[in-house]
Amino acid sequence: MPIKLLSEDIVAQIAAGEVIERPTSVVKEMLENSIDAGARHIHIALSGDGRRRIQISDDGCGINMAEVDLAFARHATSKLNSADDLYNIRTLGFRGEALASIAAVSHLTMTTRHTDDATGTQLKIVGGMVQEQRAIGAPAGTVIEVEHLFFNMPARLKFLKKEATEKRQIASLVTRYALAYPQIRFVVEQDGREIFRTNGGGNLTDVLVGAFGIDQVRDMLEVDDQYDDVRVVGFTSMPRMNRADRSRITLFVNGRSIQDTSLTYAVVQAYHTLLMTGRYPIAVLLIDVPPADVDVNVHPAKAEVRFKDQDAVFTAVQRAVRRAVISQAQTPYLRERRPLEGAVASDWQPHQQLEMGLNLQTPGQFAGHRTGERDQPTDPTAIPYGAEAPAMPRTLPLLRVVGQVSSSYIVAEGPAGMYLIDQHAAHERILYEQFMADYAKQETISQLMLAAQTVQVAPDEAALLESNLPVLSALGFTLEAFGPNTFVIRAIPALLADADPVELIAGMIDDLIQGNTPGMASIEDKIVLRVCKSAAVKAGQILNFEQMQGLIRQLERCQSPLTCPHGRPTMIHLSRDHLAREFGRLG
Ligand code: ADP
Ligand code: MG
Repeated sequence: MPIKLLSEDIVAQIAAGEVIERPTSVVKEMLENSIDAGARHIHIALSGDGRRRIQISDDGCGINMAEVDLAFARHATSKLNSADDLYNIRTLGFRGEALASIAAVSHLTMTTRHTDDATGTQLKIVGGMVQEQRAIGAPAGTVIEVEHLFFNMPARLKFLKKEATEKRQIASLVTRYALAYPQIRFVVEQDGREIFRTNGGGNLTDVLVGAFGIDQVRDMLEVDDQYDDVRVVGFTSMPRMNRADRSRITLFVNGRSIQDTSLTYAVVQAYHTLLMTGRYPIAVLLIDVPPADVDVNVHPAKAEVRFKDQDAVFTAVQRAVRRAVISQAQTPYLRERRPLEGAVASDWQPHQQLEMGLNLQTPGQFAGHRTGERDQPTDPTAIPYGAEAPAMPRTLPLLRVVGQVSSSYIVAEGPAGMYLIDQHAAHERILYEQFMADYAKQETISQLMLAAQTVQVAPDEAALLESNLPVLSALGFTLEAFGPNTFVIRAIPALLADADPVELIAGMIDDLIQGNTPGMASIEDKIVLRVCKSAAVKAGQILNFEQMQGLIRQLERCQSPLTCPHGRPTMIHLSRDHLAREFGRLG
């Protein structure tokens, strides 16, 4: 075929296709324009999912009579003056493409009046061609009506998702914007029925309740933190409220809804060891950075941004969320703590508060953990973080051990009622925090093997092991290659003095084979989890009183005592009220 220039209307359609993919894109672009225009009130009316009709009205500044047709020219914008402005963008729009794109693929009517003009203008465009322009009386602001979207792109119409999907997307989009702009009143109407409304009062919690419902909001934690130039505010869910995918993690950067795999991961990462793998939090985070530190011009639909210092933003988000979550992970049991009344107070004595190690079959277990003088507690939001026995603040109320059930659970009593503690899960949590604390300080955590053992593995496994020797060594495993597919184990983590190293190495090879999947725990993490699992006291193991008490004392000072490092609960709490209710002593 000979080379020829594409006709203008084909070019327009191709360009429009990049920006306007579906009805949701129309809503997004128009919403952004209304917000940029300083609207306090935005009204969206849809017929069905918006293919037939989308109408957006705002009370923003409107468009000057003389500029109305220019607004529809491609690359026409009032938001940029010079190329330099591109690196300091404070508006949502700047590409000057949306109106042109929407007009190219629909029947569009715009009615607008600039606040300084006495009369308004109405413009009708069909498939990019102006049909009519006239002066008209209108309130200040802009009303855009888009009908028959993609009427001239039958192929695009065929690719649209089901109506219900599109409706849901639009609702979710408007909800997100409403969360980012609580000071703007949003109303969404679908086929004449109001489906969403915010009051524009500026209170994020109000919007959250409207968007998620009061029950869910009760389980959300407030995030509000600043690290250098990066401010992070919003809400994130308590670990007990979670979802099977990441879709409920909503991110805004400087008021712009964005997708960012890395920052989403930062949020997930903040729940490290508090959520089971494969579960994700719900979060709405408004991230503010200086406009000059973020490049918004990397995506035609402006859905992605690039940061000058990606790591700084990542860390800020992770820490801010972590801080909110950690402060909660420690308190629900303390929160229930009420002043003790007379008789009940003397119920029990915090007797025998011995700071003792577990002293299970593993003698080396807590070597080096009872030195007394410790550094300042590490920043609780840092990951990995540590828990130091005596110096760490108490995160659970003082618990009195009552006994053991099924050789697996410790029964304990505290001021707020009864606790049933999974001994294995609890010990895993304790070991995990100790291991990570030592690891962070690079203290010796390995112990030489008295009798060197060798392991033989399959050739592909040998290669894998070989390439991971540095990681393993950092975690306390010293292995040396020794003949074909054979390794000598010289040292293992001190926690594991009693475990069968050969079995452990086999398990680690499994971890290595699964590798580093994005969004999942890193290799190091997996190995640490495996070490803690092997070293922790097993279910079915009978513990004596001192052992149980030692375990509880340490758990009381863990940073996140309520979950094991795999995110499963370490304990079940039966409050006194609950017990009273069960026995019919209360309401
Ligand atoms: P951009 O938003 O990137 O500037 P658009 O094509 O979306 O490009 O809009 C073009 C111009 O039309 C905007 O720069 C703005 O001046 C004007 N405009 C669009 N929508 C509105 C609105 N709702 N209120 C006021 N002005 C608007
Ligand atoms: Mg725009």
